[in-house]
Amino acid sequence: MPAQRSASTRGQLAVRDVSKSFTVNGARIDVLRDVSLEVAAGEFVAILGPSGCGKSTLLRLISGLDRDYRGSISQDGEAITGTGLDRGIVFQEPRLFPWATVWQNVALGLKNAPMSESAKRDSITAHIALVGLDGFAQAYPHQLSGGMAQRAAIARGLVNRPRVLLLDEPFGALDALTRARLQIELQQIWAHEKITMILVTHDVDEAVFLGDRVVVLAPRPGRISDIFDIPAPRPRTRGDDSLIRVRKAVLRTLESDDTSEPIRTATAAEGAA
Ligand code: ADP
Ligand code: MG
Repeated sequence: MPAQRSASTRGQLAVRDVSKSFTVNGARIDVLRDVSLEVAAGEFVAILGPSGCGKSTLLRLISGLDRDYRGSISQDGEAITGTGLDRGIVFQEPRLFPWATVWQNVALGLKNAPMSESAKRDSITAHIALVGLDGFAQAYPHQLSGGMAQRAAIARGLVNRPRVLLLDEPFGALDALTRARLQIELQQIWAHEKITMILVTHDVDEAVFLGDRVVVLAPRPGRISDIFDIPAPRPRTRGDDSLIRVRKAVLRTLESDDTSEPIRTATAAEGAA
């Protein structure tokens, strides 16, 4: 592997006092309020919350896809000012180009990378193997199962050797058995790549199984209601006692968040900040 990595020093994220609102038909909707989160290099953080609580919005802000917010977000001490090669992203739908092979789809992740052609080829080969798609490099998306397509999307997210991989409900559209299998594979990939991962999910078991920490977001407006450390050793097994204990505590928090304030809107003029 050509790239030297020192996982302990890069891939830190700092989200400080981030608030985000959208204006819909003249009314302001507060989607995130005062979210602050420090993520260590190489950490696996799961962000858990009910549908609509602002998880995707937060991940888009961290990715740099959306820069319209209050507060600050930085990676390794530098403000995130747009999307960058140092952050990969994987979405719920694999978003593969149907006319391109697995190889070509993964290669698209390297379009702007300052790497030699041979280093690119090595990284593509390595990451297709890492996600278990050896032998499918020349397959087209319609020839892949949902799980295989999502593996290809993960390979594309990693092929630049980013310091941070952001995953937005990557297994949400898969059947339960495939999802369980991909969770195990993702844990292995994370251990291998030694990078920071932020996984957004509404699946309690997935969050607790994968995260070093689980950040629970409460809805309307989205804000951090609690953060749980998951002390279970890795690689993890689903029956681990500490996982079961944390799962219960997380569920209690989610249930109490259910009674949070109703959606509050203000007119855009009133809310102008
Ligand atoms: P989650 O990923 O947790 O399901 P989202 O971050 O997608 O939640 O959305 C949070 C809230 O922000 C929702 O109420 C959603 O309707 C609203 N929202 C998201 N994107 C936009 C947008 N571009 N314009 C207006 N409202 C939006
Ligand atoms: Mg979402």
